[in-house]
Amino acid sequence: MALHPYDLYDVRSQLSEEERAVQDAVARFTDERVLPIIGDAFDQGRFPKELVGEIAELGLLGATLPEDYGCAGLNAVSYGLICQELERGDSGLRSFVSVQSSLCMYPIHAYGSEEQRRRWLPDMAAGKVIGCFGLTEPHGGSDPANMKTFAKKDGGDWVINGGKMWITNGNLADIAVVWAQTDEGIQGFVVEKGMPGFAAQEIKHKMSLRASVTSALFFDNVRVPEANRLPNVKGLKGPLGCLTQARYGIAWGPIGAAIACLDEALNYSKERMLFGRPVAATQSAQIKLADMARRITLAQLLSLQLGRLKDAGKMQPQQVSLAKWNNCRMAIDIARECRDLLGGAGITTEHAAIRHALNLESVITYEGTETVHQLVIGRELTGINAF
Ligand SMILES: Cc1cc2nc3c(=O)[nH]c(=O)nc-3n(C[C@H](O)[C@H](O)[C@H](O)COP(=O)(O)OP(=O)(O)OC[C@H]3O[C@@H](n4cnc5c(N)ncnc54)[C@H](O)[C@@H]3O)c2cc1C
Repeated sequence: MALHPYDLYDVRSQLSEEERAVQDAVARFTDERVLPIIGDAFDQGRFPKELVGEIAELGLLGATLPEDYGCAGLNAVSYGLICQELERGDSGLRSFVSVQSSLCMYPIHAYGSEEQRRRWLPDMAAGKVIGCFGLTEPHGGSDPANMKTFAKKDGGDWVINGGKMWITNGNLADIAVVWAQTDEGIQGFVVEKGMPGFAAQEIKHKMSLRASVTSALFFDNVRVPEANRLPNVKGLKGPLGCLTQARYGIAWGPIGAAIACLDEALNYSKERMLFGRPVAATQSAQIKLADMARRITLAQLLSLQLGRLKDAGKMQPQQVSLAKWNNCRMAIDIARECRDLLGGAGITTEHAAIRHALNLESVITYEGTETVHQLVIGRELTGINAF
């Protein structure tokens, strides 16, 4: 029996019925709604906001949070599959879902009061309120402990001053989960659009994640009520806890991008006739394609095991680092090799490879650069912090 070219180890047979149904629903959405428009959206540097309602209806926002808050209550493996299938379309769309789910809804659920959960989560699950997450500052994202943004207590309010950089969804967002130093350590605040002194400015001229909004945020004496402070966490473990959630999903996403590129290159090389035979009939093309399938298979197995560990409550942040590093590296290399297999045709957004390759430049950088994740694993092995 022939193997599935993009699932050589039949990983799908290890999924539950519900997990398969989730994967199929998101795959259909990507095929029918994302792929027809995404090349143009990327060219135009436009986030396809018109898809947000459907993404919400499919239950993809805050998908692992409880149904009490209007969320789907899915498990971690399902969330991974959502990320994989969305990123088969485009990393920008997956980034939108990652930020809304793991970086905004997750901290409100994990660190917020019951009142805050009720106030924001149902509308965020419905896509009526869009969130962004402000951690990175202009002077160095890899070292978030060196945070300059400061929130000072003033009566019943907090006054925030500072700035954040490279913030996904910044100009789209109705609320921003912002991390700031305080006299009691780093704390999280929900800053609302329209609060005086709060501004977002879109970052232009991006060559990567063009179908996603990226912004700088500015805080000039922004007065935030105590009711908007997330009460249940203090210190860097707050934002780092969110990053572990987001990185988990990001580890799965690039598998989708890699499959999209392999699919395209496989079809192209079977049809492209050179020297009287299809490119796919040459040994060098087959070695390249086989090597891509090998790397995708390893990433699938790694990610499924990571998801099973997460669902069992046993996942460690270092394991997420290894998966994020491995899968981003795997996908960016495959996207570049597929671009090459397409020859000149590979340089336009008529084909997906270059779009994915360019997007993956962001994905391999954000949520901890490749180097940062390598140093996490190095520290795990040696016991020595080399940061
Ligand atoms: C498209 C996009 C969207 C993003 N979205 C968000 C968002 O929504 N919210 C948010 O808060 N942030 C976001 N980010 C920021 C992202 O997380 C940072 O860009 C990332 O953490 C790296 O920080 P930096 O860009 O300041 O690079 P730097 O930290 O300045 O790193 C520069 C270089 O130094 C290397 N380096 C770092 N530490 C070491 C070390 N100890 N030893 C050797 N080399 C080292 C890095 O690997 C890198 O190559 C986004 C970024 C991008 C590009």
